[in-house]
Formats: sequence, structure tokens, C-alpha cells
Amino acid sequence: MSQVNIAIDGPAGAGKSTVAQQVAKRLHLLYIDTGAMYRALTYIALTRGCPLTEEHQLRRLLDDIQIELMSGENGQTVYVNGRDVTREIRTTEVTNHVSLVAAYPSIRERMVELQRNMAEKKSVVMDGRDIGTNVLPNADLKVFLTASHEERARRRYQELLERGIRANQSQLGLDIAERDRKDSQREIAPLKQAEDAILFDSTGLTIDQVVDRIVALYHEMKERA
Ligand code: C5P
Repeated sequence: MSQVNIAIDGPAGAGKSTVAQQVAKRLHLLYIDTGAMYRALTYIALTRGCPLTEEHQLRRLLDDIQIELMSGENGQTVYVNGRDVTREIRTTEVTNHVSLVAAYPSIRERMVELQRNMAEKKSVVMDGRDIGTNVLPNADLKVFLTASHEERARRRYQELLERGIRANQSQLGLDIAERDRKDSQREIAPLKQAEDAILFDSTGLTIDQVVDRIVALYHEMKERA
């Protein structure tokens, strides 16, 4: 088995990025955070005053910019036209607008093309919402990672706190529920568990426990192949 692809999907705040990143590190695969790509476009649109209600303008903007993801010791760095936007794409403003941008068919079409190109060249661990169902339907291992709504809100609160931002946990819970609603109900490639994905509820588990389990699933899959 020369090339291997792992797809990790799930709702907001389930810990996908942290888990996917560590799985990639342990297995020496390339990590690709597809959410960061939708966030980067949303951020650039907001800063350039491109109306988020205008699909064609957003698509033109996407065609004009270059989004790059670079993995390093301190996680993944996101660049737009060579500028580091890693922090900027995580603001509440971007988070609350990204699902609108990600729902447009012509935006998804291009993003999926970019994502497939990346996975063609290297073995990857890719996380998102539609990786197992749409981007990499032939992925060797598919995981659908969830956690209880309360736990996801708590984790997001904690994550912001670590970055020095004190948020309101119940508001975060509402924002997460709203984002999941939009992501699950959109027409194109909604958030959905692939039929052949393994459902994994991470409530009450540590990151290491989740990573260990996915790495074990990977080895089981390799033995069977
Ligand atoms: O993973 P993250 O929470 O950073 O994703 C941000 C948003 O990007 C999601 O809420 C969703 O609207 C969009 N997204 C998507 N498809 C993906 C990854 C993310 O629609 N594969």
C-alpha cells in the first residue's frame, strides 16, 4: 500500500483538527485542514469588503488568491498570497460567517479540486465535513468524530481561554449548534457520516486516547489490506 488517505469528519468542536494533526504526525502523513481553507477565503473576503452574499464575487476572489497550508513543529500555518493568516482565520467573526461562504457550489467545487490535488501527490490525513462522503470517497480509513454538545462547547471555551479570549460558554454552544445546522442542511456536500465511516464519540476521552484509537484502526486496516 504505497499511498494512504485518512478522512476525519465531524461537527464543529469535536476535536478533529487536533486529533487529525497528531494522527498525521504519528503516521508521518501530511495533515490537511480543509476548514482552514474555507476560513481563509472568508477572512480575505471580510477584509477586502467582498460581500459574502455574492457567490460569483467570492469565486473570483478565490481564483485570485493562493491559499497554502504548511505543516511544522508548531502545527499548521495558513498563508494567503504568502501572508501568514493562521490566527486571523480563527476569530469569532470568521467562525460565524464561514458556513455561509462554504455553502456556495462554485466555492466548494474549486476547494474540492484543490484538496484532491493535494491528496493525489501525498498520503494525507484530511479533516473537514465532506471528506469521507465527497472529497476522498475512496479514503482507506474514514472516521466520523463526534462529542456531546456540552463537551464541544466546553472544549471551544477552553481553546479560546488558552488564546487569552474569555468567551461566554452558553453563547459558544449556540454558535456551534447554528454552524452545525447550516453545515448539515446545505444542499451541496452537507456534513454527514459516510456509510463506511467509523463513528467515534470522543466525549470524556483525552486527545491521546482518541489518537491512539485511530492509529490502531489504521494499523488494523493495513493488516487487512
Ligand atoms: O473545521 P472548521 O470548523 O475550521 O471549519 C470551518 C467551516 O468550514 C465549517 O463550519 C464548514 O462550514 C466549512 N467546511 C466545509 N467543508 C469542509 C471543511 C469545512 O464546509 N470540508
